Order: sequence, then C-alpha cells, then structure tokens
Amino acid sequence: MKGLDQQRIMGEYFGYPTCCIDSWCKNHPQFYFNRPEVQRQASVEGFVPCLTHSEEIVAGTVTHEELIANRICPTAFPDQGSDAQVDKYLAKYDKDSRKKG
Ligand SMILES: [Zn+2]
Repeated sequence: MKGLDQQRIMGEYFGYPTCCIDSWCKNHPQFYFNRPEVQRQASVEGFVPCLTHSEEIVAGTVTHEELIANRICPTAFPDQGSDAQVDKYLAKYDKDSRKKG
C-alpha cells in the first residue's frame, strides 16, 4: 500500500470528511508544517480540516464532532484508539483490496 493510499484509508477510518482528506493528501507532507494559521487552530490530533472547514470551526459555525461521520475507529474523536486496532484495520483492508484486485 502506498503512503497516500494509507493516509486516505486512515482518514476514512477516523471518519474525516472527504474534502478534508483530499486537502490533506493533495498537500501532504509539506502541508502539515506550512498550513495556514486558521488550519493550525482548527487541527486536533491527527485531524487537519480543509481550509473551508477550518474557517467554519474557528468561526464556531461547525464542530469537529459534527464533521466526523461513519467513523470506523471504535473510540470517539479525538481519541485515535490503539495502534493495534489501526494495524488490524489496515491489515484487513490490505487483504480485502488484494482479493478484489
Ligand atoms: Zn473539509
């Protein structure tokens, strides 16, 4: 599995919106250190919202919890669960995608 594919899968695992995952993947990895101030303020744990959602979070019109949907991770945001759970999920995903391909 390539690095960015894994980033996307992890974003889905944590229930982040597609636009935020796209924004992260498009700009990764320099992005994390160079993101605009509003995105720094809106970032929590591993979740770096896209610019639009960052502005909404900072303005208080939306919360992180409202943006996060269909979360596969068994623990509530911002907890990222255990590495073992993540590894198990990635291993399963890898096996499933190999079966299909
Ligand atoms: Zn977004």
